[in-house]
Amino acid sequence: MSAISLQGISKRYPDHVAVERLDLEVQAGEFMVLVGPSGCGKSTTLRMIAGLEDISEGRLLIADRDVTHAEPHERDIAMVFQSYALYPHMTVYMNMAFGLLRTSKLSRSEVDQRVQEAAGRLQISDLLQRRPNELSGGQRQRVAIGRALVRKPKVFLFDEPLSNLDAKLRTHMRAELERLHAELGITIVYVTHDQVEAMTLGTRIAVMDKGRLRQVGAPMEVYRRPADRFVASFIGSPEMNFLPVPDGMPAARAWLNDRYGSAALQPGAVLGLRPEELSISASAAPDVPLGWSGLVQRVERLGAEAYAQIRLGGGDVLVRTEADAALAPDQSIELTPDLSRLRVFDGSTGAALAAQG
Ligand code: ADP
Repeated sequence: MSAISLQGISKRYPDHVAVERLDLEVQAGEFMVLVGPSGCGKSTTLRMIAGLEDISEGRLLIADRDVTHAEPHERDIAMVFQSYALYPHMTVYMNMAFGLLRTSKLSRSEVDQRVQEAAGRLQISDLLQRRPNELSGGQRQRVAIGRALVRKPKVFLFDEPLSNLDAKLRTHMRAELERLHAELGITIVYVTHDQVEAMTLGTRIAVMDKGRLRQVGAPMEVYRRPADRFVASFIGSPEMNFLPVPDGMPAARAWLNDRYGSAALQPGAVLGLRPEELSISASAAPDVPLGWSGLVQRVERLGAEAYAQIRLGGGDVLVRTEADAALAPDQSIELTPDLSRLRVFDGSTGAALAAQG
């Protein structure tokens, strides 16, 4: 049973389609991350699940119930906003208890028990009598999460919840969210434009662009086998390198043709290799059908590793190397790809070509 089922969901504005026929199944207990560049339609999708935006077309099921036109409070969801949306005049305790006291049939002591339990889990028990303006950003975020937890909804929706926090706190809260998800087995749909957040948090990630779903899969699957060139370049930092299919290398072309079919040799077809999938050597590796000669431009040493910018005929690529690799600007080198990781993208559609054999 899917916790959430989006069936051909669209959102149309008079002059603009924000989400176009989206199909997505979120399984119970899953941490699904919607990720994509700004304006791709991920918040609109989340808001349609929450009932904060009308659905123009399609069907939405939550726990197998059709809620396409249901009011937000009928959907058994709780949403955590980027802005936290806390009541400034209420204590932390009341911020967490208020919704339950007002709308549920729980007794005061049952509500109290839920608030205490959520506060304990989020380590904010000693803050319950404070008001939001007496809290740090991270603490406010916990209160917002606590307010969702006490409701015990079928589904949690998070809209860029960490983007107002500094980098260190963000990393910390990522770990907290991961822990909460693992401990409570809750179903989460989480929106972010940050592909690192998506990679580290999602059990699966759904990559969107221009209102359309481009790929859904486990993070490493999407990283290793992007469905198309957009996903390939959006996921991964530093970005994947795109290289032209070599012109004057008959052995390389024959190999590409054998493995990826004739589409690999059509005009515009592009090879994709991540910085860690290329290696640098002084002379060309024997028995590897594909390789490039290049010139070192600069080396960025990060401490644990380094990235070398290498100029090839057509442009530059980035290659990950050891931190103290003996490389200097203007040095001539050979680049060898890890062929087991090579991707080839179709010249006209951008779709990844399937490797044969
Ligand atoms: P994201 O969350 O991925 O940044 P949004 O879901 O907020 O993107 O927006 C998707 C697209 O819909 C954007 O191009 C945005 O400008 C457009 N959009 C959002 N709200 C409206 C609206 N009320 N009227 C017209 N277009 C809108």
